[in-house]
Amino acid sequence: MEKREARFLVGLGGAFYPEHHPRETWQEYIRLAGELGLKAVRIGEFAWDKMEPEENYYDFSWLDEVFSLLSQENIQVVLCTPTAVPPIWACERYPEIFPVLEDSRTFGFGVRRYTCPTSPAYRRLCQNIVEAMAEHYGKNPVVYTWQIDNELGHPFCFCSRCLQAFQEWCQREYKTIEVFNEAMVLSFWGQTLKKV
Ligand SMILES: [Zn+2]
Repeated sequence: MEKREARFLVGLGGAFYPEHHPRETWQEYIRLAGELGLKAVRIGEFAWDKMEPEENYYDFSWLDEVFSLLSQENIQVVLCTPTAVPPIWACERYPEIFPVLEDSRTFGFGVRRYTCPTSPAYRRLCQNIVEAMAEHYGKNPVVYTWQIDNELGHPFCFCSRCLQAFQEWCQREYKTIEVFNEAMVLSFWGQTLKKV
């Protein structure tokens, strides 16, 4: 494995969403950021639809342009994998990627984190996009480091796959229901569980 020297980001950083702004404004925007002394930007966590506009078709040209402009200003990049927001084509083609909420409703496209972590289609699509990003940007010197996904957690998925995976994890982790009850302090409010 390649050994990399530890580096430290020093200075001001911020989130940057070039995909929100017209392309012709990028150069001036980034020049001004450099002039203000910005040292790093976090980029890409909600731009899956721009990086993979169709399944297995990747377009990093716009991001290459942004990175080149940032490099001219010595601004480094924290590159984010965009897996919290699958594109509309993914949602329409693979509706199993939507999570099931506690009350059995499906949480759908239109916000973020509309994903079931155990969905085979979602996991395959995530692997495809992050591998494509790693191949394209893995050696790019402007990329200082990576952010993996964005704010893991909510909403939790209660689909049968996730429930079974959670129960199997509990079984491996705690072995018996008594150990589980104790670890979760379920004697509080009479919440002790019993194996059926
Ligand atoms: Zn699920």
